[in-house]
Amino acid sequence: MVGAMVNRDGNGWTTCGRGHRHWGRFGAAGLLAFAPDEGQTCVLLQRRSWWGNYGGAWGPPGGARDSHESVVTAALREAEEECAMPADAVTVAGIYRDDHGGWSYQTVIASAPRPFPVRAVSSETSQASWVAAEDVEAFDLHPGFAEQWPVLRTALQPLEFVVDVANVMGSRPDGWWRDRAGAARRLRDQLAVLAADGVPALPEAMRAPPLERWFPDFVLVVEGAARTIAAAHAAGSRGSERAGVPGSAGGEARVRVVAAPGSGDDTIAELARDLPGRRLVVTADRQLRDRCTAAGASVTGPGWLLGQL
Ligand SMILES: [Zn+2]
Repeated sequence: MVGAMVNRDGNGWTTCGRGHRHWGRFGAAGLLAFAPDEGQTCVLLQRRSWWGNYGGAWGPPGGARDSHESVVTAALREAEEECAMPADAVTVAGIYRDDHGGWSYQTVIASAPRPFPVRAVSSETSQASWVAAEDVEAFDLHPGFAEQWPVLRTALQPLEFVVDVANVMGSRPDGWWRDRAGAARRLRDQLAVLAADGVPALPEAMRAPPLERWFPDFVLVVEGAARTIAAAHAAGSRGSERAGVPGSAGGEARVRVVAAPGSGDDTIAELARDLPGRRLVVTADRQLRDRCTAAGASVTGPGWLLGQL
């Protein structure tokens, strides 16, 4: 009965453009979950059962993607089937594609606030466990994962876009001067859509690894008349959290609005200094750009962000 409901059409062998044999007729997807743990970054790995392909090797949970599945859906499903990972335990941070020509393996990189309980639940998996990133290379790794690990490792950190709302609004002549709060709301709604869709690349100056897609979290800093949207947004996003989209929190949940108590510039410079991981500040203000760069953040102009919408 259940079998009739599940169409696993991805199961099967295929040959890639480089002449290898691969499992997964429509490509394969894996889930690389990471979480901070006692000052270190840990990743969720599984050990394959001895009887299977690459028996005994370690790697992220993963497998064949079905024709009707998105890569994120497939990766979350595999992690649940193999390691009992609850789909709402992680937030998708990016996708890395290892393209062999005609076949590819896509790794969905996803963050968790802390390691969650895991266990081997599939006959293909003999162990599931959290491993410190610095110890990963000491394990007997699946060769495909071993090859990708140096790149994947550099993607295991939070990514936040800090948006100078007044500056970005001021860069497009959409009548914002007549209704600042309305214009700020429009920008926020567009960024919520962008947060759900992700961006295909980060500005070159960030020297980020070449992922196929990034899913940043957004902090919108508002001041003056636009500040009224902060309270309204907080009420609205509580509602959307209840709706809960597994694994890929809806765009609205990834957008935080901060009302600057004084100067927006001071709040932005503080965020640029204090947020963990990669920070990209979006502003054209020369002096603010210098302060954020000095705080270790990257900066880009409004044109770059608006070009993503
Ligand atoms: Zn291949």
